Amino acid sequence: MKESAYWWDIDEKLFPIGERPPPKKSDFVVVGGGYTGLSAGLTLARQGKSVVVIDSGKPGFGASTRNGGICSGQIRLSHSALTKIYGVSFADEAYAEGIEARLDLTKFCNEENIDCQFQMTGRFTGAMSKGDYDLQLKETDRLNNIDGHKAFMVSKHNQGKEIATDLFYGGMVRDEIGGFHPGKFFAGLLKRAEEAGVIVISDLPVLEIKNEKEGKKIVITAKGQISAGKVIIATNAYTGTEYKVGKFLRKRLVPAKSAIIVTENLGVDYVKKLMPKLRMYGDTSNLYSYFRPTPDRKRILLGSRGFDKIEVTNRTVNYLKRKLCLIFPELFNVKIDYCWQGNVGFTRPQLPVIFEHDEIFYAAGYAGSGTVWARWLGKKAAEIAMGTSNRKSIFYASPPQSIPFYDGNPWFLPIYQYYFAFKDWIKINR
Ligand SMILES: Cc1cc2nc3c(=O)[nH]c(=O)nc-3n(C[C@H](O)[C@H](O)[C@H](O)COP(=O)(O)OP(=O)(O)OC[C@H]3O[C@@H](n4cnc5c(N)ncnc54)[C@H](O)[C@@H]3O)c2cc1C
Repeated sequence: MKESAYWWDIDEKLFPIGERPPPKKSDFVVVGGGYTGLSAGLTLARQGKSVVVIDSGKPGFGASTRNGGICSGQIRLSHSALTKIYGVSFADEAYAEGIEARLDLTKFCNEENIDCQFQMTGRFTGAMSKGDYDLQLKETDRLNNIDGHKAFMVSKHNQGKEIATDLFYGGMVRDEIGGFHPGKFFAGLLKRAEEAGVIVISDLPVLEIKNEKEGKKIVITAKGQISAGKVIIATNAYTGTEYKVGKFLRKRLVPAKSAIIVTENLGVDYVKKLMPKLRMYGDTSNLYSYFRPTPDRKRILLGSRGFDKIEVTNRTVNYLKRKLCLIFPELFNVKIDYCWQGNVGFTRPQLPVIFEHDEIFYAAGYAGSGTVWARWLGKKAAEIAMGTSNRKSIFYASPPQSIPFYDGNPWFLPIYQYYFAFKDWIKINR
């Protein structure tokens, strides 16, 4: 088994950027070279700005080439939960922006000729209980009132047409969701950003940002400093506790581990037998699984919570394999060829955010749905920072609240996870 991402085994060069010294000055400095940072950089460069995107490691080596590739523009809270907290017009707008952002991603891939195996498959989310099915039914009605949503329910009786499992009590299909190859998308985005003139620098931690005169910033890196007109922070769930630059964000963002396995080559026919419509998939557990065929439809990829602090261990592999076999018991003897993990960023309200603090712009907190949100909010952050945005995002607001007794080390996560695991166990064993 390879302890590396399945998406890294491609012909395109994923991490080709060499180390290079930072320039002395730039209109914009973007800290973090994942989808958010590169999307911001590309947007700025296309408006004629000089831009440096700096990553402390290899750009893309954070979440942006480790994800499951499900392109949903999902909001973590259901429409009804969002309505209860913020009112119906906020919920409608947030869900409508999810559709807009997802459509913009497909348009971007088409117009920029990025061959990332985008497949408009729809997504089936299996209900783990009868109660969950009833909630999904109500949610379906709400979603279909918002332009662009195409949701419908599949009963347990008809479930076999969607997925060969007895685990679920039926489920919800959202036809407007799809999936892509995260590595190929990242390689395409990076290429377009460099072609537009973005200077991308790898292996250079940004340490601190200080105020210069006339509203400018001094970006201090391990190899010198840059005088920047404006700064965008795009470090998301990799903000880390080691550098001063992340101090404000890390008190407001919880990085949770998510891990993924990919099976051995099962062949297209076998995958199709298990997943007849070859969709993206998920379930309604608290510690949910997300799963899908790989873009060549020969293997199955499944992700869920991770356990390990750094590298994956047998505990993670066994946990994910158990989850896979709960859905498809016949895969018990199948080999796992890949396992890896990465960080997913959550704000306290579990909503994505763009905000400004001390004249620095931030975009983060996509709660496991960043394939759509990171590119979109990176672009929005750039437009807002340039002052060219005629329609900002519903998520552009004051900074989210900080989390009490927290400075970037999520010591409380295991407690939540045990609690949710217990609730899920009750659901399955009832
Ligand atoms: C296992 C896993 C599965 C996922 N599955 C899905 C999915 O199926 N669908 C979906 O929509 N989303 C999914 N996501 C989420 C999605 O991948 C992320 O939301 C998205 O990639 C975030 O992009 P980003 O550019 O904001 O952050 P990242 O790609 O994480 O980039 C942040 C970068 O900041 C850099 N950095 C940090 N500190 C510094 C510093 N001081 N100086 C310079 N650089 C710094 C890091 O090195 C890193 O490269 C998943 C995530 C994970 C981990």
